[in-house]
Amino acid sequence: MTVLPMTINGLAVQSKATFGVIDPATGEFFGQAPDCTEEQLQLAMDSARSAFGAWRRDEDQRRAMLREAAVAVRQDGERIAGLLTSEQGKPLQDARVEVMAAAAWLDYYAGLEMPREVVQDDRSGYAEVLRRPLGVVAAITPWNFPVTLAMWKIAPALRAGNTMVLKPSPFTPLATLALGETLAQVLPPGVLNVISGRDPLGARMTTHPVPRKISFTGSTPTGKAIAAAASDDLKRVTLELGGNDPAIILDDADPQAIADQLFWAAFANNGQVCLAVKRVYAPHSLYDDVVEALAERARTVRVGAGAEEGTELGPINNLPQYSRVVGLVEDALQQGAKVAAGGASMNRRGYFYQPTILAAASDGIRIVDEEQFGPALPVIAYRNVNDVLERCNEGPYGLTASVWSSDTDRARRVATELDCGQVAINAHGSGVRPDLPFGGARWSGIGVENGLWGLYGFTETQVLSVPTAY
Ligand code: NAD
Repeated sequence: MTVLPMTINGLAVQSKATFGVIDPATGEFFGQAPDCTEEQLQLAMDSARSAFGAWRRDEDQRRAMLREAAVAVRQDGERIAGLLTSEQGKPLQDARVEVMAAAAWLDYYAGLEMPREVVQDDRSGYAEVLRRPLGVVAAITPWNFPVTLAMWKIAPALRAGNTMVLKPSPFTPLATLALGETLAQVLPPGVLNVISGRDPLGARMTTHPVPRKISFTGSTPTGKAIAAAASDDLKRVTLELGGNDPAIILDDADPQAIADQLFWAAFANNGQVCLAVKRVYAPHSLYDDVVEALAERARTVRVGAGAEEGTELGPINNLPQYSRVVGLVEDALQQGAKVAAGGASMNRRGYFYQPTILAAASDGIRIVDEEQFGPALPVIAYRNVNDVLERCNEGPYGLTASVWSSDTDRARRVATELDCGQVAINAHGSGVRPDLPFGGARWSGIGVENGLWGLYGFTETQVLSVPTAY
């Protein structure tokens, strides 16, 4: 059994109780994580608060340490990636890319130049806008990209001068605990505490008096609970929540030319990506070609355990999510959708489900209206693109979207009609980079991560003014 400690005040800490971690490729327990006690949560919060005083003062030191942290993550990359594949299910190569992306985020925030914001500097006075750190940040992450999504919080929050208590999902605690161990070799004690536990630990973090900010990535229902929990103490929140991201294909697109990109935009990480394409709108004139091009790829992609050589898609991460995907496909078929590829579980142990393309899907069925977060993609036929835009903008989610066309000016006109956080043309998710803001409209979240904008989310604005008129 793999057992990893928490990191509290720079020390490796075990707990009296542990909880099991399942390998989704087998459905069996392979590891244990500490179940953080009330006293340990308090210790983590206290150590983050104590560390804040010194950490906030020296920006050059913070930048140097983020650089060292990036080196340490790269050096420990194989260990962290191996744990990530075992607990999350993703192909080992994808796990390696995820860990390297985390190191790249550290480098980006170490190197980011913060512009001076001097509004006035003349004979009658001086006025400057400053960005001050908030204090202790409570960070809570989901199970789909545990390492990268933790780093979207750690790197900007620490660069801005905050300290942190971080809790990963109970489905995928181990890679994050390993990351905590690695970063403890570089960071001063208390600057980054990593604790593990089940969902109620997350809830206790959000009502704890110490944090001034909650940075959360996860589902929309949990995000709403956190917004309510934060209100009493007016804690700041950034909420990165669910999506139901449309890909809209215009009638001048070439289905064969776009099919590879479109398929992987929907199925990478087995569809368990907040910004994955979750529904495809295709015009009647191209509908059969689009469905067939996607189905052909779904039938031939290599599904297997993440550790197996050549695996392109792993299992679904956990049993509740697997059951949800099974239920949504069954419901769609009862509502008249047709299987173009897949449509069933795979005949092997673990949480494997065939990559599934659903034809004859329509708005109003659950798999089109809700976030499936798994390897099943509905394709919906349309006649008028304005109807599609209306349906997308009226829905509760607004994370990302894409428009596909051989005429980029035309695609741009359609794209700018969409109310969502990012929209891409002839690509999907191409704006997910350390230097661009990422966030959602409506139920997809509040605030943004990444870039200067993400860093500002970990700060309070202060005006320093020096009038000279007296
Ligand atoms: P989840 O909301 O069930 O859990 C996320 C985290 O919240 C876990 O660490 C969990 O332990 C914790 N938690 C649960 N209840 C809590 C509570 N009451 N208070 C505080 N913390 C609590 O989400 P999940 O199933 O792990 O993740 C999948 C969801 O995450 C999907 O909806 C997906 O779209 C979303 N997601 C969004 C983004 C984004 O950037 N917008 C990125 C990745 C995933």
